[in-house]
This record gives sequence, structure tokens and C-alpha cells, in this order.
Amino acid sequence: MDPDLLARFAQIVGDAYAIIDPAEIAPHLIERRDLYHGTSPLVLRPGSVDEVAAILKLANETATPIVPQGGNTGLVGAQIPHNGEVVLSLTRLNAIRSVDPDNDTMTVEAGVVLDEIHKAADAVDRFFPLSLGSEGSCQIGGNLSTNAGGTAVLAYGNTRALVLGLEVVLADGRIWNGLRALRKDNTGYDLKDLFVGAEGTLGVITAAVIKLFPKPSETATAFVAIQDPAGALKLFAHARAKAGSQLTACEILPRIGLEFVFRHAPGTRDPLAEAYPWYVLVELSSPLEGADLDGLMQAILEDAFEDGTVLDAALASSTQQALDFWQIRLMMSEVQRLEGGSIKSDVSVPVGKVAEMLERGIETVSAMIPGVRPVPFGHLGDGNIHFNFSQPEGADREAFMAQWGPVTDAIDDLVMEFGGSISAEHGIGFMKRHLMEHIKQPVELELMRSIKATLDPKGILNPGKVV
Ligand SMILES: Cc1cc2nc3c(=O)[nH]c(=O)nc-3n(C[C@H](O)[C@H](O)[C@H](O)COP(=O)(O)OP(=O)(O)OC[C@H]3O[C@@H](n4cnc5c(N)ncnc54)[C@H](O)[C@@H]3O)c2cc1C
Repeated sequence: MDPDLLARFAQIVGDAYAIIDPAEIAPHLIERRDLYHGTSPLVLRPGSVDEVAAILKLANETATPIVPQGGNTGLVGAQIPHNGEVVLSLTRLNAIRSVDPDNDTMTVEAGVVLDEIHKAADAVDRFFPLSLGSEGSCQIGGNLSTNAGGTAVLAYGNTRALVLGLEVVLADGRIWNGLRALRKDNTGYDLKDLFVGAEGTLGVITAAVIKLFPKPSETATAFVAIQDPAGALKLFAHARAKAGSQLTACEILPRIGLEFVFRHAPGTRDPLAEAYPWYVLVELSSPLEGADLDGLMQAILEDAFEDGTVLDAALASSTQQALDFWQIRLMMSEVQRLEGGSIKSDVSVPVGKVAEMLERGIETVSAMIPGVRPVPFGHLGDGNIHFNFSQPEGADREAFMAQWGPVTDAIDDLVMEFGGSISAEHGIGFMKRHLMEHIKQPVELELMRSIKATLDPKGILNPGKVV
């Protein structure tokens, strides 16, 4: 990078926040799955919206490409500078600007870590439902930009459903203050929806008005053994019919995933006395005191036990036990790393098709790679499965990982056949951009490209991602 230009960028944030030391830049160039290693001459850490605006203005004038970065927990390589772009880290924009319990809203800056939002909501006796395995490090700006899903989508929707207003710095440095805290506002196009899920390609989100909810006062959590995914779907349908909106999570887990967790996550243990092929983690919750959710859960499980759907179940008798059940679920993706290579897909199909999709996907990939260990798990209630495959025991990691393309192609083809999505919650980013031509109609792609060209005519925002 031209030293004069670098100095102009550094002047905007001050030398202390313009990182040029390669050792300090290094963590911004890699991501959790170790699939991508980027390059960048400069990481900028602005401390105000005006500084973000000044950075983008200069970047636009000088056609300098910028990659916005939040907590760097994204799983599709979208936050990585693949071609020497400047990294714009939002970490210092971490103020909670206001909390309004009367309106059930909170105004937060982009760099606030999700866990901090949970704590701030709790402090006013409210609840922010977005919950991800990465919540200790991902930031709300990243959550919005990826339209993150997580374990509570079933009851509360994904991040798009949790936001009322945004503040965004546009590619040319203009600031759009759309921080409206309204549940009803039909005054033209809903611009905020353009930026949610745009993966930093249309603007830089600097703040958001997010929705708060009544805090659940009762929760019932059960760890349930079932024979197969068809049984899991039956249990889900039954639980939903009986509990309605009080069914707040329904996650499916395979036995092998539990074995990985028990092997690698200290302190975890099997909630049930015997091993079973599959499990469902069911959560009911309600803000109403005296809702008797344990009684409701027991009734659901008894019915399902009688018709043979449920093989065994443990109902958490304490908050700690419920957390222990959740810990098994939340460790599921982390422990796969410790079992060698893992090929991962994040897909969704209509809920009723999950069992058939799993059966056919496992069959297909097992035929391609004898001994492969399927570890599909995830948000059954949303039809969203993390369709992952661990390498055969003792296999060569590199050789296995070289199968990433053929394996994910096979899963993607299957998912498309079922009318599903090849990216349910992680986004397109860098990893899946080459698939856009196959999964989107020409008219959709044309619209996306014309929106991109309107908002970022010089293509400085996260180039090479999404479209
Ligand atoms: C253990 C683990 C579990 C996970 N579980 C889930 C899950 O259940 N559901 C799920 O959906 N995801 C999950 N993820 C993926 C990831 O945590 C989410 O995508 C998260 O929303 C990313 O937030 P981040 O702050 O880390 O963003 P980053 O990774 O830094 O960035 C992600 C994208 O957003 C853009 N971006 C970041 N901040 C801004 C901003 N302020 N303005 C504009 N663009 C911006 C980046 O350019 C990039 O395109 C998981 C990841 C891990 C490591």
C-alpha cells in the first residue's frame, strides 16, 4: 500500500488504532476453521461513527477495498481480506447507547459482543433471544450482517426478525441514521433489510435498535433418545402441537456427536444410562409463572414414549442440569475439529423433509468415502442441519479434506432437489460465492448486482464476497 495513503487512513483513527505490525494484524487474517489465510497491510479500529465515515469516504475516493470485521467468528470466509484489503474492525464501537424497557428495545453499537447484550437485557429483566455457540466473541454488527440464526429461531426468528432500526455508513462515507425504534413503519422501502445479511458488501453497520422480550420465568429442558430422524420429526410435531409457542428449541444430535463431546469436552457426561442412535434436545419456556412446563414436558414425552417414538429421556431437574444438556449441543461443532478433518455444510430443507434428506445424504457420502463418519446435527425445528462429515478413523487429513468440493456438491444437489437452501444461516461469503449462479435465478442475480452497483459503485466494500 502506498505509504502516503496508509498515513492518511492512520490519521483518521490515530496511530494507536491503525495496526501495521504483522504480528498484530495476523489474528485478523485467519478464521476458526483454518480454511483461509488472508493478507492485509492495515487494520483500522475506528472509535466513532464519524471515523468510520471518514475511512469509507477516503476508501471510496482512492478505490481502496475494505473488509469489515466484527468478532471474526464467521464460517464462510466473508470477514477475511483475501486480497490485501484494509480490515475495518468494529470492535471499539462497543457502547450500549440506550435501553428502553418500556419499548422493549436496546440501541447498541456494532461492536458489542452478543454476550454483553444478553447481560444488559437481563439487567432490566428482559431477554434478547439470539443465541449462538460463538456468543462470547461474535458481535451484533456481525450477527446482523450474517443474519445469524442459532438455537432460538424456532420461537423468535433469526437476527433479521430481531432488529427494528439500523445506522449504516455507506460506501461513500454518508451516514444513514435509520435508528427507528418502531414496530410499525410502512413508509416506503424497508432499507434496513438490505443491510441485514449483506455480509458487509453494501454498507458498514455501526449501530442497531434491537428488540427485547419478556424474560422466561420457567423453562423445561429434556434430553430425549430416539431411534432415527423420522422419530425426531414425529416428536417435534407432537411437541409443537402440545406446547405451541412455548416450544422454544428443538435440536437433533447423533450418537457419534455425543461420543466426540464426551471424549474431548471435560466435565460432560451422558444424560442417559444407555447409548441410543439419535437424540433431541427439547426446550419449553414461558414468561408466565406457574406455567408448569415440567408437567407439559412430561405429558409430551409420555405420549411419545407410548407410541414408541421416544426410547428414553432425561428431564433437567435444575438449571445446572439444563445447562449441562445444552453444553453437549453447543460443543458439537468445536469437538469435530479434534477428530481430524471435518467437511461441513450448513443447509436447510422444509422441516418435513429433514429425515429423508439425512438418510440420502449419509448414504451418498458414505458411498463416496468408505468409513466416513457422518455427524449431522442442528436446528431440527427450523429444518436447518449442519450436515458435517468427520474423516474416517486413521485416514489422512489432507486427502480427506481434498474431498470438500465433491462432498458439499453432493449435499447441495440433494438439498436443491428438496427445495432447500445451501446456506441456512452462515451466509455465502467467499466460500459459496461460486455457487450463486447455480442457486439463484438470473433475475435475482441481476437485482442483487444492481443493488450492489447502486450502493457501492466502486466495489470497495468486501469485494469478492456474495455477488
Ligand atoms: C462455535 C461457533 C458457533 C457458531 N454458531 C452459529 C449458529 O448457531 N448460527 C449462526 O448463524 N452462526 C453461527 N456461527 C457463525 C458466526 O458466529 C456468525 O456468523 C456471527 O454472526 C458472525 O459474527 P462476527 O461478529 O464474528 O462477524 P465476522 O465473522 O467478523 O463477520 C461476518 C460477516 O459480517 C461482516 N461484518 C461484520 N461486522 C460488520 C459490520 N458492523 N457492518 C457490516 N458488515 C459487517 C463481515 O464483513 C463478514 O462478511 C458460529 C461460529 C462459531 C465459531
